[in-house]
Amino acid sequence: ELLAACEADPALAADAAAAAGLREIRRDYDRATRLPTELVRACSEAASRAMLAWRQAREENRFAAFAPWLQRIVELSRERAAALGVPPGGTPYDVLLDEYEPGATSREVDAVFARLRAGLVPLLRAAAGRAVTEPGWKRARIPLPLQRALVEGVMERMGFDARAGRLDESAHPFCDGIGPGDTRLTTRWAEDGFFTTLAAVMHETGHALYEQNLPADRFGQPLGEAAGTAVHESQARLWENFVGRGRPFWEWVLPRIRDAVGDPAFAALTVDDVCREVGAVRPVLLRIEADEAAYNLHVMLRYDLERALLAGDLAVDELPGAWNERFAADFGVEVPDDARGCLQDVHWAAGGFGYFPTYALGNLYAGQLWEAVRRALPGLDDDLRRGEFGGLAEWLRANVHAHGRRFTPPELCERATGRPLGHEALLGYLREKLAAMA
Ligand code: ZN
Repeated sequence: ELLAACEADPALAADAAAAAGLREIRRDYDRATRLPTELVRACSEAASRAMLAWRQAREENRFAAFAPWLQRIVELSRERAAALGVPPGGTPYDVLLDEYEPGATSREVDAVFARLRAGLVPLLRAAAGRAVTEPGWKRARIPLPLQRALVEGVMERMGFDARAGRLDESAHPFCDGIGPGDTRLTTRWAEDGFFTTLAAVMHETGHALYEQNLPADRFGQPLGEAAGTAVHESQARLWENFVGRGRPFWEWVLPRIRDAVGDPAFAALTVDDVCREVGAVRPVLLRIEADEAAYNLHVMLRYDLERALLAGDLAVDELPGAWNERFAADFGVEVPDDARGCLQDVHWAAGGFGYFPTYALGNLYAGQLWEAVRRALPGLDDDLRRGEFGGLAEWLRANVHAHGRRFTPPELCERATGRPLGHEALLGYLREKLAAMA
């Protein structure tokens, strides 16, 4: 009743920020109240049981043990979509996608993904032929206190406010914005894993900067929250990949690592060596080990299969075959077993239909934001070479973080970059980068 009264108030309708806040509260309210209690209970019970079954099925490499649970999840996902309400002209999948990427439809996502895939497959085939084996320096042992000092130095340069958050340790890295003044992120430490940790920390710090820069005076309201899962991911990918796998960043950070570590394995290491390794393209079976280019193909494969499952165009017991066929077509590699194929991710067991595409959308947003920020800051490469990341951080704060959920992700993208989300910026960036390494 209060919400309806606010929506009928002309003074609130005339205030753009208040109107946007109301639009988002309405969205949250409707999504929360349209699902019947029994369905919510059934979904969370099925996800709990399915995750246990999935864990065991993956360990034993036995898809048949997971199949009945996946079937149940597919059915419940269809029920969820129906309860939330499929919009006219939309599909049940659109409703699930909308949870993570508000305002997106699978028709628009399909069009962008199809063009990205058409450009990526030949690019990766060509680059994979040049793949090199992992060099020894990447596994050089560096004492943990030294690693921590180095990654915290990078976090500080990125603009992370250490008085309003902290870095801890966990098995899987993550970031959680608890509220204004308290943003937690974690990483995993290993003496021989410095380069992986640095990339993971830059990723999580990208998420953390979004959380730290949300409008604190809107805390507790939608306008104090991030625009969506894919936009959040774009902030992490931009720092991890576009900055952290780029030559200017390494021109700044490598001498610092060399001086701090003093290991002979690093003495002769050049920026070229590092860039060749962090930019290497290798067809790997596991999504989480994929490079920044191939990662998108891993995601688009899952997106197409989960849509087919939901639409009933693919039966659950046909999933392993469909997965392996598509993997071979995209990567030119045979999948040896389901544990490293369709059983590798937890998302479907957890009931997260509609989540996968946000990873590739995050890369696409990051690509387009990167293009826009380079236009806005012509001296960006020189700044990065000097370890000055403030200009980039401020641009992201002003153009993305500060808006909270005021704009939907497609609107936010258009405002920040001047055009709707497309495949060109990401594909162009990857093409240029791989050509430079050839
Ligand atoms: Zn992330």
